[in-house]
Amino acid sequence: MADAVNGVVAVAVETPQHTGLGAPLDYSADALPPGTLVRVPLGRRDVPGIVWDRPAEAEAPPELRPVREVLAAMPPLGASWRQLVAFAAAYYQRGLGELALAVLPPELRKLDDVQLARRVARLRKPAVPARAARRAGLAAATAAAEAADAQHGVQPAADTPEAAPAFPPAEAGPPAAAEAPPLNDEQQAAVDAIGAAAGTYLLHGVTGSGKTEVYLHAAEAALAAGRQVLVMVPEINLTPQLEARLAQRFAGRRLVALHSALTPAQRLKHWLLAHLGEADLVLGTRLAVFASLPRLGLIVADEEHDPSFKQQEGARYSARDLAVYRGHLEGVPVVLGSATPSLETWQRVQEGRYTRLALSQRIGGGVLPRVRLFDMNTLPRQRGSAAPALAPALVDAVAERIERGEQSLLFLNRRGYAPVLHCTACGWKSGCPHCSAWRVFHKGDRSLRCHHCGFSERVPRACPDCGNLDIAPLGRGTERLEEQIAQLLPGARVARIDADTTRLKGSLEAQLGAVHAGDVDVLVGTQMIAKGHDFRRITLVAAVNPDSALFASDFRAPERLFALLMQAAGRAGRDAQQAARSEMWVQSWHPQHALYAALRKHDYEAFAASQLEERQSAGLPPFSSLALLRAEAREASIAQGFLRAASELAQAMADEAGVTLYPPVPPPVARVADVDRLQMLVESPSRVALQRLLAAWLPQLHALRSVHKGVLRWAVDVDPLAI
Ligand code: ADP
Ligand code: ZN
Ligand code: ZN
Repeated sequence: MADAVNGVVAVAVETPQHTGLGAPLDYSADALPPGTLVRVPLGRRDVPGIVWDRPAEAEAPPELRPVREVLAAMPPLGASWRQLVAFAAAYYQRGLGELALAVLPPELRKLDDVQLARRVARLRKPAVPARAARRAGLAAATAAAEAADAQHGVQPAADTPEAAPAFPPAEAGPPAAAEAPPLNDEQQAAVDAIGAAAGTYLLHGVTGSGKTEVYLHAAEAALAAGRQVLVMVPEINLTPQLEARLAQRFAGRRLVALHSALTPAQRLKHWLLAHLGEADLVLGTRLAVFASLPRLGLIVADEEHDPSFKQQEGARYSARDLAVYRGHLEGVPVVLGSATPSLETWQRVQEGRYTRLALSQRIGGGVLPRVRLFDMNTLPRQRGSAAPALAPALVDAVAERIERGEQSLLFLNRRGYAPVLHCTACGWKSGCPHCSAWRVFHKGDRSLRCHHCGFSERVPRACPDCGNLDIAPLGRGTERLEEQIAQLLPGARVARIDADTTRLKGSLEAQLGAVHAGDVDVLVGTQMIAKGHDFRRITLVAAVNPDSALFASDFRAPERLFALLMQAAGRAGRDAQQAARSEMWVQSWHPQHALYAALRKHDYEAFAASQLEERQSAGLPPFSSLALLRAEAREASIAQGFLRAASELAQAMADEAGVTLYPPVPPPVARVADVDRLQMLVESPSRVALQRLLAAWLPQLHALRSVHKGVLRWAVDVDPLAI
């Protein structure tokens, strides 16, 4: 390696973006392998940095500042980790050093070498009791320790081997701690395929079809081959069961969690355990895709379609997409699990780039609940009042469940009591003075709260405009639904779970515990309750008002609604006896809609085919690539001016490259916290063309921005979720 030629090293540091997209900077130092953590002077400060690969032919400037401190206590970050980070930075248009440092645990940057050495030593101690280690197979544990030690050397050769061999077929690994059920044929075929060759696999099966069991078996094979396993989930608190199952099945192994709800100290510890090769399994959210895993052998992304895999601030990366890239880079299988794959994934299956592994039955013969579409148009409408939010027939169905000792789950994607208050005399509405949005009426604390900027006030006694005392809620949120159910079904034990009732740490767990214990008859909530939880006693699931997604401007809204409804349906009747009397209700004013027709038949493929056809004719992803340039300023004209100038800069390049620049438009909520927002869509049928344009264009935008310093913020979102 030529990285340390002439005592010059390149160091990735967090530079402000306008100084040239954060390319590594040169410093003088004795030979240091790439991936080494250092501290270097930048301006008048010392900052953390990572030694980066330096092209041999690069010329060194005559005067270089020296590296101040080398954190040699930790093995360097491997070559494939650096490649992943470099790819992500380039693809999502962020500074290399900015991204590389942002994905490390924040605590790591604060330590000096002595402090780091102490922590590393502590973590290297065998934390597994001897008996458990024996149970888990000493061979694998020793191999792990050796692999980690091999990394510990200071020579550049300490890098992670790039391409790892696929794990050996069905060698007897360490016996699993908890009894694993024998797989059915489809599960076995899936496990065999995953173990046989690296590649990207779509594990396609409804809730309860045994996907998790496939992950566990594939993980077991990888662990037996001495490899580490990365399992990613959209939101950690929605999947306590998965963590429990992993911990149970692999009791002799070291499992660590990586997500943003950990304390900084925990996050550092878990990250280090993974990096040192001490942890065998990492269970995490999107940020875990950047975990350093020197022995990586398998990546699983459960619920791969979930929007939470996309980071929504800073580097707006898709952890799902990066997982696929990482698998490819390191030559390890990537398993994407879903009942309703993203259309991007589905299209890649159609093109033969991903392999679909289908699990077509629910384990134990459970069927999916019957879908009942309730036509809201059939309800009598009383003059002057909105139609009731709940069909009497649905209320009856809930009452039946209560009599039988079963549970019902009703979800509505709107928290609070009512989305807006209004005055019947003058038409005043509870707008937010700082945003182009209504303030939501929360009855519990009698507040009017803006869900965009947080501005909150006590509900006024009378209309602020005309003094009328008759101000009334319009529409319904979960709080009102809860109240309504309690009125309609006196004596029923109703619980509500949404962002308002789960603000306190531990409250979600406590409320879920009550549902599991059978202390709740009717569970009301936002879509957060429709995902993930394994509720055993629920035999009725109802979507109270899902129609709005059918006509939303967001082109992914139907895809998301279908996934949500399928996932919600999966909550009901997980055991075979209950399944027979389980139902999913959908209250709709458009019951004939094709989406609901497909849902009724649980027909993902028909839905996907029709959506893909629409996307293709509209030139939308996955048939095109998008980027969104967002700008915000206190005055809309500044954002407008910036985007216009940006557009002019790119127009010639875009025309030549076959990239379309659309005029700037306001997003659905244009003004938030007194800041006006605008966005400009950039689209191309070719991902490569779009990438090339962005790479050439963005440095010019950094220069352009300095004109508006302090009053304008802008960012680019590559592969945005919504446009
Ligand atoms: P999914 O992840 O698709 O929802 P799971 O893997 O959780 O499905 O399986 C659903 C239930 O069936 C779980 O309780 C699991 O332990 C059980 N299960 C899975 N596969 C088998 C099998 N082959 N034999 C018996 N039980 C199984
Ligand atoms: Zn009024
Ligand atoms: Zn507001």
